[in-house]
Amino acid sequence: ARRKLVAGNWKMNGSLAALAELDGIDAAARANPGVDVAICPPFTLIAPAVARAPGLPIGGQDCHAARCGAHTGCTSVELLREAGAALVIVGHSERRADQHETSEEVRGKAGAAIAGGLVAIVCVGETEAERDAGQALAVVERQLAESLPAGADAATLVVAYEPVWAIGTGRTPSCDDIACVHAALRARLRTLIGGEADGVRILYGGSVKPDNAAEILNLPDVDGALVGGASLTAAQFAPIIAAC
Ligand code: 13P
Repeated sequence: ARRKLVAGNWKMNGSLAALAELDGIDAAARANPGVDVAICPPFTLIAPAVARAPGLPIGGQDCHAARCGAHTGCTSVELLREAGAALVIVGHSERRADQHETSEEVRGKAGAAIAGGLVAIVCVGETEAERDAGQALAVVERQLAESLPAGADAATLVVAYEPVWAIGTGRTPSCDDIACVHAALRARLRTLIGGEADGVRILYGGSVKPDNAAEILNLPDVDGALVGGASLTAAQFAPIIAAC
């Protein structure tokens, strides 16, 4: 059976002072040993986060596909590893939108992450217009196929389904819709990586809160959550971890 993973994406939030929240988050992780927990803070907080909570996997929110070079403002997998990161989010919809990242670029980043020893959380998700047009499954299946790197397996790849319209809005798809997309992603994954697909965690993300976590996390093929706003405090994140 797949172990559930609850990962927090702090986005461009937090501070050195806010790392105090990791104490409570780490305690919640220890209290729920059957659940994997991780936090992805901004780059500058990775090393201090690792120092503050050595037992808690810490990740980046992006990486570059290249090992090093003239890429001002970018961060390589090697630098993330050196800072103590164990994982990295790639292809988040905010980066696909704001930084115009394509699935081809996401594939390069995910491949570099996996080759460099990080777990890659590859994000996919449809916009509201795409859902309204009946294109949600087609969009996420295409994003998955185009973003998946060579060498991905159950130990190194995590997929996150994050409908763009559910992020930060307090709106979520129905449980039927979430289960439907996750089943479709699992099936597509099987055509891409065969039997390994059955071990890959597929997370749901988008307005996961303490009050909806249990019903979402218990859906078939939902192997955890990628949590934004509610991962910023232990008070909100701990009940989501416990809901697994
Ligand atoms: P929210 O949980 O704030 O909706 O954000 C979800 C998300 O984008 C996590 O990556």
